[in-house]
Amino acid sequence: MHIFAIANQKGGVGKTTTTVNLAAALAARGQRTLLVDLDPQGNATMGSGIDKRALTQSVYHLLVGLATLAEVRASSSAKFDLLPANRDLAGAEVEMVELERREMRLKDALAAHADEYDFVLIDCPPSLSLLTLNGLCSAHGVVIPMQCEYYALEGLSDLVNTIKKVHANLNNDLKIIGLLRVMFDSRATLGHQVSAELEQHFGDKVFKTIVPRNVRLAEAPSYGIPGVLFDKSSKGAQAYLAFASEMIERVKTM
Ligand code: ADP
Ligand code: MG
Repeated sequence: MHIFAIANQKGGVGKTTTTVNLAAALAARGQRTLLVDLDPQGNATMGSGIDKRALTQSVYHLLVGLATLAEVRASSSAKFDLLPANRDLAGAEVEMVELERREMRLKDALAAHADEYDFVLIDCPPSLSLLTLNGLCSAHGVVIPMQCEYYALEGLSDLVNTIKKVHANLNNDLKIIGLLRVMFDSRATLGHQVSAELEQHFGDKVFKTIVPRNVRLAEAPSYGIPGVLFDKSSKGAQAYLAFASEMIERVKTM
């Protein structure tokens, strides 16, 4: 079981879109996949076709010890399993502070199911909070989606420092798997410049796959279907399918 946190403390950079579509693409490639929604916004839950307003048990209940993983787990019609979330999860942030092993609650919950999945993908909230810390403490690696814009590199250093600290103090396994360029606009000169700069700084930590800006990926969540299945022939879907193949190759070397 390979566990990856999809993280970037900025909002709106494509974390959820990447998590949902990578999960669907991995499942389409025959990989047993679990998606963990760690964001109280519940966007990954809705995008997977599960109604966040109708949940009786959610990741909140799992993290505070009110339910088991098996009780919380739902299955998406896109052939992956889901630990769904809604705004209840914001409460976990506060309640977990008092609990033992507060950074390890998700890791401990996943450990009992290690032989059931090939991939676990964790959609992190846009913060460096206790929820994100639970994601980073559970993971073998971090996938960082980013837009190739002027300020992209600025925010990156905070995240890289957090990952270094977690690696040193809480989770020796943790490493950056790679940076994924998303919402890429091939007509913008700046995008190409930032993209080249990323390759220069981070070398083979930059994934080969580039996800283009594609309206079909943005439309899919309102239908509760991952973009990869909503319009399989779209450029966005094709990119995430290619990214899944790249991830499958990448884990072979881990
Ligand atoms: P985050 O989880 O980091 O906040 P999201 O994945 O929710 O980011 O994406 C933010 C917005 O951008 C959403 O409306 C989403 O549909 C849209 N979006 C994400 N990736 C793409 C893309 N490749 N092309 C077009 N729109 C995208
Ligand atoms: Mg999100």
